[in-house]
Amino acid sequence: MAVLLLEDVDADDVGTVGGKAASLGELIGAGLPVPPGFAVTAGTYRTFIEEAGIDAELFEAVDVDPEDSAALREAEERAAELILETPLPDSVREEILSEYRAMGEDGEEAFVAVRSSATAEDLPDSSFAGQQETFLNVREDDLLRRVKECWASLFTQRAIYYRQQRGFPHEDVDIAVVVQRMVDAEKSGVMFTSHPSTGAPQVTIEAAWGLGEAVVSGTVSPDNYVYDRGRAEVDEVTVADKKVEMVKDAETGETVQLDVAEDRRTERVLSDAEIGDLVALGERVEDHYGTPQDVEWAIYDGEIYMLQSRPITTIREDAGGDEATGADAAAGAATGDGGAAGSAANGGASAVGGEDEADVLVDGLGASPGVVSGAVRIVHKLDHLDQVQDGDVMVTEMTMPDMVPAMKRAAGIVTDEGGMTSHAAIISRELGVPAVVGNGNGTRVLEDGRQVTLDGDKGTIRAGESASAEPGEEFEPVEAARPETPVKPMTATEVKVNVSIPEAAERAAATGADGVGLLRIEHMVLSLGKTPERYIADHGARAYQDEIIEGVRRVADEFYPRPVRVRTIDAPTDEFRELEGGAGEPAEHNPMLGWRGIRRSLDKPEPFQQELAAFARLYDMGYDNLEVMFPLVNDAKDVEGIARHMREAGIDPETHRWGVMIETPASALQIEDLAEAGIDFASFGTNDLTQYTLAVDRNNEHVAGRFDELHPAVLRLIGDTIETCRELGVDTSICGQAGSKPEMVEFLVEKGVSSISANIDAVRDVQHEVKRTEQRLLLDSVR
Ligand code: PEP
Ligand code: MG
Repeated sequence: MAVLLLEDVDADDVGTVGGKAASLGELIGAGLPVPPGFAVTAGTYRTFIEEAGIDAELFEAVDVDPEDSAALREAEERAAELILETPLPDSVREEILSEYRAMGEDGEEAFVAVRSSATAEDLPDSSFAGQQETFLNVREDDLLRRVKECWASLFTQRAIYYRQQRGFPHEDVDIAVVVQRMVDAEKSGVMFTSHPSTGAPQVTIEAAWGLGEAVVSGTVSPDNYVYDRGRAEVDEVTVADKKVEMVKDAETGETVQLDVAEDRRTERVLSDAEIGDLVALGERVEDHYGTPQDVEWAIYDGEIYMLQSRPITTIREDAGGDEATGADAAAGAATGDGGAAGSAANGGASAVGGEDEADVLVDGLGASPGVVSGAVRIVHKLDHLDQVQDGDVMVTEMTMPDMVPAMKRAAGIVTDEGGMTSHAAIISRELGVPAVVGNGNGTRVLEDGRQVTLDGDKGTIRAGESASAEPGEEFEPVEAARPETPVKPMTATEVKVNVSIPEAAERAAATGADGVGLLRIEHMVLSLGKTPERYIADHGARAYQDEIIEGVRRVADEFYPRPVRVRTIDAPTDEFRELEGGAGEPAEHNPMLGWRGIRRSLDKPEPFQQELAAFARLYDMGYDNLEVMFPLVNDAKDVEGIARHMREAGIDPETHRWGVMIETPASALQIEDLAEAGIDFASFGTNDLTQYTLAVDRNNEHVAGRFDELHPAVLRLIGDTIETCRELGVDTSICGQAGSKPEMVEFLVEKGVSSISANIDAVRDVQHEVKRTEQRLLLDSVR
């Protein structure tokens, strides 16, 4: 038998149909409302690879060095090719299709969800098995391919990586697949039948409009309801602003994300009666299993369906049952498909520590201020990031653009690598999340689940919780960015702000800055998950422009009519290589000295042209507050190339304000030529200018102590450039991290810089420092 009906399996069948199917069968057996379906057994996968004779080749293809990312990518591709291109035996096809057809109603084809269901023989953490693969709204045409894609998900790079790293044989892993009728959910979400960390009898429900994927993936902030089982009443209702929902497109059957109509966004999703019904079901599931459960549910046409139930694994063994508070109910609980099993092995085990040095587990650079406590969540490069929950301290080698949603959820961020100007440092400051970077070995020393206190000022991670820790704040602490004293210091030198993620626009504008001195677009582009070339090939140039326009507009709107300096892309090849389509990126020994910034843009004008076309469209839309800035130029030849491309894109360099970054000693030394070539402004990128002047890699923690933006050599280049620019009528600015340092601010104002652009959290201090220096200069001149 290739397939088994869910109603015919139970918890004892994990080895045959995998954990997910077994659990659904168990629930059906207990009389709970589960949509019907069947499982393609693990044995079917095994027979398929063995009878087709692809098993040996498959296992050989995935036996690669896990640290070699090119080899991993090839292994994934080869495994997928073998599985997807080998035909299914006729008997298996027939069996799957006939069970599927039996699910149709009134002659209509059923829409089904197709999900991987890992077997117990896999590693304890189910996320190793490729269990993430889920396809929604599948119909007959795609069904068999989707089943095979679930099989192939056993060999994603991530899955191969972990098994190889841990010496777990690929041959020992099997996978089953669940095919289950879709519930066309009007509302859905998750429910914890007891408090997820203390086990207290308190139900937490998260709910949003449409399909549950939006809640599980963190795309939407759901409503949160807390129900006290002791008193049998709803305790707390927190209605969220639910901006989007996932629904089935009536025409194509595809799952699409839609904006929620204005009036429904802040409407309560669940009534008290619905909460009561959900709780009753939750109690039945908990009774059935004898342990608190994490349940995915959906409501359609007034009926509640249970889509999945798993034991909550985050309950602390030492927890008393009565200390629960609603506020932290959802914190630390595993929700998505990935993180449930075994994720909190050490949760809460560490003692609450004092604050002496003996408690310091690791230390590094304090990159974003604040003190927070939380459970360590180790995230490796290829991990699924849904395991980082609200309030966790995320610990990783180095952050990447696709980690930003997880970084937002985290209470604090810790990285092994990187300096004060690394991705992790820049983004965590903008998110307002405390961070310690470049600690060297946090991912090896810190244990997953351990309670720690991160001090983003001192750069330390201590054992235990701290009394001085701030409660983990949700992202968007706009109020925190707003200066406490409402009176803005009036300064002749403009004080602007840096923005790297459009989501920070509101916080940035709340600082009262005079504009944006640097809007980086790397994050907008890299978070598309594809190289610009691949994105354009797949979706068209217009779609690529649209992505840039959307991000830039969010910032330009927030600041209008204050000026916003948007910079063309400057990402090194090693970051592009991580993206889909990045396989062909050159392998550079030192990407910082390599093919980045304007060099790449001029050599490879296609994506560059689209960036400029996006800016041209923004000008056409009326965003006359935009100024375009170009990174990593060296000389007049670069600037001439830039001006030519601007003209081609329909941006007249004579009538629009534009300029360049001064990031190489060459550009500082060539400033007269650059001015001659037509720039309106020059902005010091001290992150790069320092690394290139001192030959100190800005992201290398081993030389972080030598990274000194106030080094006399760096100051000399800056001072001389300002002087020349003043003579030539070119504005000067700073947008590197050093613009947030009081000593640099004082130096620049003395030299006569036109503007300073600082981090969100530093703007008010910089305004005061500028004012103090300007007043001193004035006094000096009259004394
Ligand atoms: C700089 O180099 O100082 C700068 C602001 O650019 P980035 O940090 O993006 O390289
Ligand atoms: Mg730079």
